[in-house]
Amino acid sequence: MAQTTPNHTQTVPGWAAMDSSGKMHPFVFKRRENGVDDVTIKILYCGMCHSDIHYAKNEWGISVYPLVPGHEITGIVTQVGSNVGKFKVGDRVGVGFIAASCLTCEFCEDDQEQYCEQMQSNCSSVFWDGSITYGGYSRMMVANNRYVVHIPDSLPLDSAAPLLCAGISVFGPMKQHNMMEVPGKKLGVVGLGGLGHIAVKFGKAFGLHVTVISTSPSKEREAREVLGADNFLLSTNSEHMKEGIRTLDYIIDTVSANHSLGPMLMLLKVRGILTIVGAPEKPMELPSFPLIFGNRTVSGSIIGGMKETQEMMDICGKHNITCDIELVKPEKINEAFDRLARNDVRYRFVIDIAASEGSKM
Ligand SMILES: [Zn+2]
Ligand SMILES: [Zn+2]
Repeated sequence: MAQTTPNHTQTVPGWAAMDSSGKMHPFVFKRRENGVDDVTIKILYCGMCHSDIHYAKNEWGISVYPLVPGHEITGIVTQVGSNVGKFKVGDRVGVGFIAASCLTCEFCEDDQEQYCEQMQSNCSSVFWDGSITYGGYSRMMVANNRYVVHIPDSLPLDSAAPLLCAGISVFGPMKQHNMMEVPGKKLGVVGLGGLGHIAVKFGKAFGLHVTVISTSPSKEREAREVLGADNFLLSTNSEHMKEGIRTLDYIIDTVSANHSLGPMLMLLKVRGILTIVGAPEKPMELPSFPLIFGNRTVSGSIIGGMKETQEMMDICGKHNITCDIELVKPEKINEAFDRLARNDVRYRFVIDIAASEGSKM
């Protein structure tokens, strides 16, 4: 455990779940000293991802308590190790899901660390020194510089934070399927939440024709007028869905509630590709006919490698793409968790970590 690892000498205030109730409490813990390959980051903001709730409540059965969640982290570099060339004190930086990987497998060598079998996350995982990782719901963090990215000056650090998970989760498959180089092609985005709204922004920045597919009619105005989507399909309306048959080249499905893939696949053109980035807990219905008769593909994707995370950040800097956020004070984390569980947020909560400074916690 981190508390007993010899070089873990830095005291850090944060917030942790102590058990599977998932309730967050102020929690003081130790982090390692800044090593030669590390950067130390004063955390200013941390986005709240749905998986933070899964971790806090041990819904995936892998949680280690006390558990400090958070993998949408932005802040300022306060210390750099002697081997670190690409960061200096004062840099604006971000840290996402990945804390460590093996460095030698085919995926690490190909800058696809997210698929490394030994990939460790920034929460409830085991770091190279054997310590348990603690995430970004805390005031400071020490990270290996490989897993840190620069945040362009044009992006505010609060609304840029969710790009580190929500953003890269949709950018990853867009990059993999070359969606940045095919303006005019048609993209469908299923679900307009934390991931979906960013997918729409990327799609428009890349010159794609973007259709939002949602179960809630109230999202149409937002999709079209605020986010600039070109079309909107109400998935509960069979006439709507019929009109959409064979119109899309790609679909990114961000919905984490259980739903059938059949009606979505019908929207794809022949040889169209659907990528799942939401994570429904139960198996989804996947009928064979729309696959066979349309030569369509269903794939999945998780975040992205560090190189493409930096590339995404730079593109966001160029196009001024950030998340639409609601900033919350640390003492409101539990309240925000409850709202997040009900999807009652537009579109991401970000914890104003610095707001806790000077308070007793
Ligand atoms: Zn996440
Ligand atoms: Zn590896």
